[in-house]
Amino acid sequence: MAVFESLSGRLQEVFRRLRGKGKLTEADVNDALREVRTALLAADVNFRVVKDFIARVRERAVGAEVLESLTPAQQVIKIVYEELTALMGGEHAKLSVAPKPPTVILLVGLQGSGKTTHAGKLAVHLRKQGRRPLLVAADVYRPAAVRQLQVLGEKAGVPVFQMGQQDPVAIARAGVEHARSTGLDTVIVDTAGRLHVDDELMGELERIKAAVSPHEVLLVVDAMAGQDAVNVAEEFHRRLGIDGIILTKLDGDQRGGAALSVRAVTGRPIKFAGTGEKLDALEPFHPERMASRILG
Ligand code: GDP
Repeated sequence: MAVFESLSGRLQEVFRRLRGKGKLTEADVNDALREVRTALLAADVNFRVVKDFIARVRERAVGAEVLESLTPAQQVIKIVYEELTALMGGEHAKLSVAPKPPTVILLVGLQGSGKTTHAGKLAVHLRKQGRRPLLVAADVYRPAAVRQLQVLGEKAGVPVFQMGQQDPVAIARAGVEHARSTGLDTVIVDTAGRLHVDDELMGELERIKAAVSPHEVLLVVDAMAGQDAVNVAEEFHRRLGIDGIILTKLDGDQRGGAALSVRAVTGRPIKFAGTGEKLDALEPFHPERMASRILG
């Protein structure tokens, strides 16, 4: 993953040196963990998250069991791998499906995070699984957003419900009704974003949520947003209550520490990862696979 390239390189270097030592002392492990800590902070992983992570690894790694084992370095690396997997959520979390269709998915997040693009990607993904999605254009403030969703819908071969620049709560409600009456089983509602979290944005999202009772409120987070991603995730979760996260732009060229922080600060799983601008650049998020990729 491009956003983890530098972090990967640094961790691999720490582990290479650790393997070269043979027998390890507690001081060796502490030195290595100090370097892991520095690498995580440099990758823009949240400070509190790093602190807890290192404490958990240290607790497991400095005991006699590890140090006196035949392959101490291997054991330490395995513990880092397991804790990194746990940090990103442990197990893959699937999308919820409504017992009685339509399943309603509400996409929320800041402007530019990739909401509209990922509405389209999600529709393509679900269609490949045999579902019949409907895209609903409830981002009425950004003039181009409705058009953007229509273009994506056409490319994806997925219907788009829109009512122009009307009240987004009414649009969301009518969209769900439209899906129900036309036999479409999944509604993906694209909502408006702002440059910053503000009261008006949250109030509107709360009203949409109350109106359509979504089965999934998914927060779309730009992996390159750095510490801001953590603040945004905390704020959206506090005000709205989210069910999961779509982490976007993992193909980007900046530090992607947000990916390792958002799960820990919200307690909500990362369900998908966006890896490009194209409609098929979406992967279900698997913590253990991501940890393997990062650790190389
Ligand atoms: P919205 O304002 O949240 O709806 O964001 P958009 O969906 O319009 O996306 C903002 C920009 O990010 C667009 O230029 C997208 O092409 C781009 N983008 C979205 N997702 C990804 C991704 O996973 N990788 C990359 N490289 N670009 C993305």
